[in-house]
Amino acid sequence: MSDAPTYAQLTTKADAINESFEREFKRFERFFGDRLDSEFVPRLIRQLQVEGYSLADVDADLKALNELRVKFIGKKSEWMALKKLIGRIGDERERRNAGEHLSLIEVKFTDRFEPARLNLEKIGDTLRIKRECLDVTIPGRRPRRGHVHPITLVRERIEDIFVSLGYAIEDGREIETDFYNFDALNIPQNHPARASQDTFYTTDGFALRSQTSTVQIHAMQGRGAPVRMIAPGRVFRRDTPDPTHNPMFFQVEGLCVDRGITMAHLKGTVGEFLRRMFGPNTRTRFRPSYFPFTEPSAEFDFSCFKCGGSGCRICKQSGWIELGGSGMVHPNVLRVADIDPEEFSGFAFGLGIDRMVALMYNLDDIRLLFENDLRFLEQFD
Ligand SMILES: [Zn+2]
Repeated sequence: MSDAPTYAQLTTKADAINESFEREFKRFERFFGDRLDSEFVPRLIRQLQVEGYSLADVDADLKALNELRVKFIGKKSEWMALKKLIGRIGDERERRNAGEHLSLIEVKFTDRFEPARLNLEKIGDTLRIKRECLDVTIPGRRPRRGHVHPITLVRERIEDIFVSLGYAIEDGREIETDFYNFDALNIPQNHPARASQDTFYTTDGFALRSQTSTVQIHAMQGRGAPVRMIAPGRVFRRDTPDPTHNPMFFQVEGLCVDRGITMAHLKGTVGEFLRRMFGPNTRTRFRPSYFPFTEPSAEFDFSCFKCGGSGCRICKQSGWIELGGSGMVHPNVLRVADIDPEEFSGFAFGLGIDRMVALMYNLDDIRLLFENDLRFLEQFD
């Protein structure tokens, strides 16, 4: 086609280019679509996702589509060179016909490239948003949650019951002076509890408290009378660990001081507490006892929560379970806290939380409670 190309030569060449365009555009045909159909792109995306078509594929297709555009209608394309030859056709009518022929083909080229490019970009945007937002259909990973220790569980239950009875919760100190641990509680100098084989002495004059009764004195000194409080907490005794003893264990101490408080109030309070703890049919009994800081003193038992009193392994066939000590606050203890025993009286009681946990969960060995073995602790969730 060096000189004066003919209409036939030009259009034959144009048709050949058109054919090769049709062939090469085929792989992008699916992105061309119907521009009036708003469901076209979403439908296409669903189809593409089934095929596993990804963002990387979008980028690759956009690049390939642009290369195709440059090849077919770019400035240096065969097509552009062909178009320049139209003006050299000698016959005017043939020239005009050739121009029309080529422009029809060219319109088809541009009409396909642009919508296909726009649709591909839309698909890319949608996939990008989908990747960046939360997929609520993926099953969540459940975080491993802890739970409270069985001793905390029982302690909180005890606290709830006494708070509902109008008691405050006191938090005492774990290292005490001899005065609060013994003297203030009316424990004489020669009492065996003071012996170093029973108590953990730290530096001179201090010891790890051997009972929560120490909190009674602090509470009365701090609040004066009347006072109603319970004090759950750790206590320490020099015991060799065995299935029923630990050198560290939990007690809860209760104290009620007011005008006209009698043993009847003590029995009523302990009875109510145990009924709420172990059920409405729980019975309590008091046995005379001795404690230096109460007078009179009594130990209290409750009817077995397992057999109801008929006798079983838990209550050792007796029908009763021993739980704690109690009594009317000794006048000497009231005086230490500057409370006049002529005007005020009160009762106090104490019980072991660990022992209660062991009973409630039927533990043969209370050392399990402090071994931090998850296989054991996870059973209390
Ligand atoms: Zn029983």
